[in-house]
Amino acid sequence: MRNLILVLGDQLDRQSAAFDGFDPQQDRVWMAEVYEESTHVWSHQARIVLFLSAMRHFRDELRSRGFTVEYTRLTAGSLAEALKKDVAKLKPKSLVLVEPGDYRVRESLVKAFPKIEIRTDRHFFSTVAEFAEHAEGRKQLRLEYFYRELRRRHRVLMDGNQPEGGEWNYDSDNRESFGKQGPGLLPRAEDFPPDALTREVIAEVQGAFAQHPGELGHFNWPVTPEDARRSLRDFIDQRLPQFGRYQDAMWTGEPFLHHSRLAAALNLKLLDPREVVAGAEEAYRHGHAPLAAVEGFIRQILGWREYVRGIYWHFMPAYAEGNALDAHADLPKFYWTGDTEAVCLRESIGQTLQHGYAHHIQRLMVTGLYALLLGVEPRQIHEWYLAVYVDAVEWVELPNVIGMSQFADGGLMASKPYAATGKYIQRMSNYCNGCRYDPAEATGDRACPFTTLYWDFLLRNESRLRQVPRMEMQLRNLVRLSDERRAAIRTQAARLTSP
Ligand SMILES: Cc1cc2nc3c(=O)[nH]c(=O)nc-3n(C[C@H](O)[C@H](O)[C@H](O)COP(=O)(O)OP(=O)(O)OC[C@H]3O[C@@H](n4cnc5c(N)ncnc54)[C@H](O)[C@@H]3O)c2cc1C
Ligand code: SF4
Repeated sequence: MRNLILVLGDQLDRQSAAFDGFDPQQDRVWMAEVYEESTHVWSHQARIVLFLSAMRHFRDELRSRGFTVEYTRLTAGSLAEALKKDVAKLKPKSLVLVEPGDYRVRESLVKAFPKIEIRTDRHFFSTVAEFAEHAEGRKQLRLEYFYRELRRRHRVLMDGNQPEGGEWNYDSDNRESFGKQGPGLLPRAEDFPPDALTREVIAEVQGAFAQHPGELGHFNWPVTPEDARRSLRDFIDQRLPQFGRYQDAMWTGEPFLHHSRLAAALNLKLLDPREVVAGAEEAYRHGHAPLAAVEGFIRQILGWREYVRGIYWHFMPAYAEGNALDAHADLPKFYWTGDTEAVCLRESIGQTLQHGYAHHIQRLMVTGLYALLLGVEPRQIHEWYLAVYVDAVEWVELPNVIGMSQFADGGLMASKPYAATGKYIQRMSNYCNGCRYDPAEATGDRACPFTTLYWDFLLRNESRLRQVPRMEMQLRNLVRLSDERRAAIRTQAARLTSP
């Protein structure tokens, strides 16, 4: 055998550079389901099913195209261990791999096989080297500048050399809540009921990972490129026009609202981000969706998605150790059960356990915010996010958690911590209406835990936050608190922080 081509669970891309020059007579594909990938964090059952089912579908598709695929079904140990066994048996002249999405996996494979050929991942608009060039000599790395570079380079939403509509960013149009009337009748999203192969995987996962968190009764994710494309079409036709406007809004019992649910398909590489961006831009050009919605959506894919990947590979492995706010509290147990009286947390965690999904503001301004304010050790909350979302792959999850949500990188990624009281959640959702707490109260029986912990967070971190210019206004309000008020907040907060 000439080349053994490794395809990992998040590399299910027919156009992958791994297949460049593939000769079915001399080369083979290698794929393996290993326990370590599902257990190194306590993975949600739906996340495990999604990866295994998509891998098996991809394997079958390759075989139908005449590729020989060496495929190992669920086996003990790590990828490197499984590969070692097969290399000893198959004796390929060389091993080929596209850049993995996880530093841990890359290190372990390179350590075990120092001569492995690692090819650039063409799935992304930008390369790791291009990001390094962008970062060179900059004191701060902000999304906006990288995003503009990519808009220009890839000619996305451009009018000559100017951004379409005259502005690069329409975020200020994209922060509406639903108001008292709620989201109204939402368009019914396309369904992806499990086929026979997925049902087989579900049964296996229910047996082998019975103790893992999450439910499988609602499994409804695309596991093939065809389904992923159908999901994209459905989003563009039905939800994109309202996406921007209600991007930050939340509503009880509505886990998906106008969001695309495309992250998992994108991250497994079932979907090409160019197709996603082009489809959205076309919807704007044909008058189907307004510019603010389309720009807002494209900024997530061409902007954030590319930018966080750049941050990840530029700063790993040290990035994962960030703990700039010196936070050491344990993750509350209710993150694994949703068993809490705080309605916003119960809803966000509940739907996470049901579907392996929560939208961005639920992740950032509910579960992430609570962990930030409570002072949870960044590694613990990182491992939770990596475990519970179907779209979680470390290159995208880690910067969003360590940088954006927990400010654990000391401001490398975000210009200030996303710290807020319960009033933010009240403004953006109806959660507080049904909650026994009051977002206006920081102390007393009805005190909202977010509001208590917000003030406690500022008090605990005051000297550190004084170094962050954009925190000035928030800290000014802190100065107005009397000593008695501060003491009362600290006492109330202590009840929340003690296990
Ligand atoms: C604490 C935290 C953890 C997160 N963990 C992950 C993760 O593990 N995997 C993941 O893909 N995203 C993660 N995100 C980003 C974002 O929340 C999800 O991409 C999004 O909620 C997925 O739902 P959707 O597909 O409906 O996205 P939509 O809201 O419809 O957005 C469209 C697409 O834009 C991309 N996108 C949006 N925001 C971001 C972002 N901040 N970074 C990178 N891409 C983005 C995604 O591909 C997404 O599918 C995280 C955000 C936070 C705050
Ligand atoms: S009152 Fe506080 S805890 Fe309750 S839903 Fe609102 S923000 Fe969440």
